[in-house]
Amino acid sequence: MVCDLVIHAGRVVTPLRTVNADIAILGGKILAVGGSKDMPAARRTLDAGGKYVLPGIVDPHAHLGYFDTLEAVETETRAAACGGVTCLGVYILALKDGILKQFDRLRSRFESLSFVDAFWHLMVIDSITMKEIETCPSAIGLTSFKFNMGYKGPHADLLGISATDDGAVYRGFRAIGELGPPALAACHTENIDIHLMLREELIAQGRRDYRVWNDSRPPFVEAECMRRAIYLAKSAGCPLYIPHITIAEGVDIIAEAVAAGVEVVGETCPQYLTHSNEAPPKVVLEHPACANVNPPLRDKASNERLWEGLAQGIIKCVGSDLAPATLAMKGDNIWDAPMGLGNNSELLLPVLLSEGVNKGRLSLEKVVEICCENPARIFGVYPRKGSLEVGADADFVVVDLEEKRTVETTKLRTMCDWSIYDGWELTGWPVHTILRGEVIVENGEPVAQSVQRGRYVPRLK
Ligand SMILES: [Zn+2]
Repeated sequence: MVCDLVIHAGRVVTPLRTVNADIAILGGKILAVGGSKDMPAARRTLDAGGKYVLPGIVDPHAHLGYFDTLEAVETETRAAACGGVTCLGVYILALKDGILKQFDRLRSRFESLSFVDAFWHLMVIDSITMKEIETCPSAIGLTSFKFNMGYKGPHADLLGISATDDGAVYRGFRAIGELGPPALAACHTENIDIHLMLREELIAQGRRDYRVWNDSRPPFVEAECMRRAIYLAKSAGCPLYIPHITIAEGVDIIAEAVAAGVEVVGETCPQYLTHSNEAPPKVVLEHPACANVNPPLRDKASNERLWEGLAQGIIKCVGSDLAPATLAMKGDNIWDAPMGLGNNSELLLPVLLSEGVNKGRLSLEKVVEICCENPARIFGVYPRKGSLEVGADADFVVVDLEEKRTVETTKLRTMCDWSIYDGWELTGWPVHTILRGEVIVENGEPVAQSVQRGRYVPRLK
């Protein structure tokens, strides 16, 4: 037998151990993992040269556009691929007529432009998307649904977002609970009424500085809503995923809920591990509108507690919350700026390698658990994604844990022209990315024909 590719001389990392091994790939799947002598002949060999070979990174939290939900597919998936990501969880904002009618169009758009695979989350925003919950798993293999709890105000009105009060959220949670696994709800947790009250006060004071974002959405606003979402999900029998946790208290809230038997999973983001409003990045000082991200950057104590939460297995996932608004799109008024801290999908793995592994906060095996196995399991694509089992998709990232490089925004692949990591020297970088047996990034450079390689990944109920 001749296989398609052998990755030779890698140090292969799983959540349990690291072993010296070769990997044989046939038809986009893992055929064998073992010693060189046991490998079949191959059409191509990629020499890992003793570097680490991880399953491809699953980044469960990406936005690829604002009003136009897949606007930035090509640039942002290319960037993610350069960061070692092979599968994204993409939030789909299906405005006005729901997702089912548009699904074929959205899927072919995605697959004609994406470098990486993706499963999608549906944003439940109105009565149409609410009704679609029960049909989505069987019709389009979509099993995760996002609720923006209490989301209202001028921005929500502009987008036509309405089904966000507690009654609507409970209705959605109940429908998801009835679907059963792997269906789950994701919930943005900030108490919007308190935010809107504070927002009005702070605007009246003429505030437009970067600190105002945290002042208008202080930590208790996030903590209160986390607790309410967990209570409602428990009452509805619905598994819950809380994305982008920013606060130290959030780690305790998740730990308490899990200890009490509630099915809840917490995610944080690289930016909440490394950045705070006590020591903001230069770009935020120069362009306060860049601080518009929900929830906001917090304090250094929260950064450290979130690292601990990951190491202790309380926080199970890291998602990038990729949201690629450029400086021009951000503008100069923080109150009106589009939200998001840029494309941190491209830097998610380097940040975890450099600030996590190389600073002794996380083991490399733990990074594989957090960034590959956990998100794949939670969102129902395991073991096809996030694993190195025979028969799994042959998705890998080859990592040089010793490479030192300074982040230069102009060299990043995202359309976003700013980065909170600009000027950071990071140690530990992806070298090659392999998607279903094809090398899509080689020596840090995207392989041009890899656009159109990405596929929508349906999930089975
Ligand atoms: Zn998000």
